[in-house]
Amino acid sequence: MRFISLAAFSLAALTAASPVAVFNKPIDVASPPPPSIHKIQGQGQGRHFGPAVALEENGSDDHKKRPPRVNVTTWFESYHRSDEIRQYFLQLAEDYHDLVTFVPHLARTHEGREVYAVKISAKGRGSRDKPQVWIQALQHAREWATATTAQYLAHHFTSKYGKSSNVTNILNSAEIIIIPNMNPDGYEFSWDVDRIWRKNRRNNGNGIYGVDLNRNWPDHWGNGGSSTDPDAENYGGPYANSEPEVRGLINFFKAQRRVLGTVDLHTHGQLILRPQGYTNVSSPHETEMKHVGDTMAQVIKGVHGMDYTSVRLNEISPLLTSGSTVDWFYGDQATRANGGQRPYSFAFELRPSPEGSEGGKIGFILPIEEVIPLGEEIAAAMEYFVDYVVKNPLKEK
Ligand SMILES: [Zn+2]
Repeated sequence: MRFISLAAFSLAALTAASPVAVFNKPIDVASPPPPSIHKIQGQGQGRHFGPAVALEENGSDDHKKRPPRVNVTTWFESYHRSDEIRQYFLQLAEDYHDLVTFVPHLARTHEGREVYAVKISAKGRGSRDKPQVWIQALQHAREWATATTAQYLAHHFTSKYGKSSNVTNILNSAEIIIIPNMNPDGYEFSWDVDRIWRKNRRNNGNGIYGVDLNRNWPDHWGNGGSSTDPDAENYGGPYANSEPEVRGLINFFKAQRRVLGTVDLHTHGQLILRPQGYTNVSSPHETEMKHVGDTMAQVIKGVHGMDYTSVRLNEISPLLTSGSTVDWFYGDQATRANGGQRPYSFAFELRPSPEGSEGGKIGFILPIEEVIPLGEEIAAAMEYFVDYVVKNPLKEK
């Protein structure tokens, strides 16, 4: 049996039913929830999650050797496990071989899972010289809507190439790198055991597990806003860059040519965060990055009317946040590895708003009908972002 390709796949327009956001208190980056929250098991699964997508065999002679094809027509109607998400991207690379390259084995996690990436660009059009933009998702296990957004972005840019002049120009002039699942151990644990698990699955001993990957990056590591307690939600790890997921991505970043912008996807709170996190001092590129963050908020509002707040990371957290991606990608280590080019660095807190989360616990459980509207508004922001940073790379000061 054959299935329609993603190119022929027209997403049903689903209506967003999100509450209007009012900036109040971020949930993720600045304020790890109290320890009691991570004891809640499987909350909300019955209501919001459909069954795993039906995987169907492709009917060819080699179907016993190859994984079954993903049914893309129903893909965004449910959340998916790590294996299915990987298969989705493998299939995308097959269906859009002129646009998508699957990059395997960036890291091997504590439990032996693979961290991988896809690169999306019009191949054969000076691909080897194109500037790059980096988008990563699922650093925190429970933030499932970051993974769906990464999947949606890949769908958006591939299916619109040759149809949308914006997307066509972007893929002709740039390469988009997407790391859709950088914490597969934690993600699987959030399916099987604890829906709001945040960290990876390092064995810290004494029955205690996990490092907060977004406190483990080697830029001002341990300078505040992270914990030395292995049981804490924001445990920064035994030392900077100790975790295979972070190490693998840093090595992959260092192997790239010229990354002009980076985006780290999180939920929730509807925030667009820029450096710096480890100090209250604004970055030397505050004006430039504020302009881009503010404009992305406007672009998002124009899609479904959602209010995202553009702020510095240090504005939302009196305790600061160190060892996070926002600072690492903007920081000196990444800049040196990037041929002296400092990337624009952002972290997004996606839907819902703090007010839409009923106190924070269910904010990590985005109703499935909001997945496509969320993808649409972030895709619009990313179209602007890639185009802008390619034309206006940060200049060193
Ligand atoms: Zn997060």
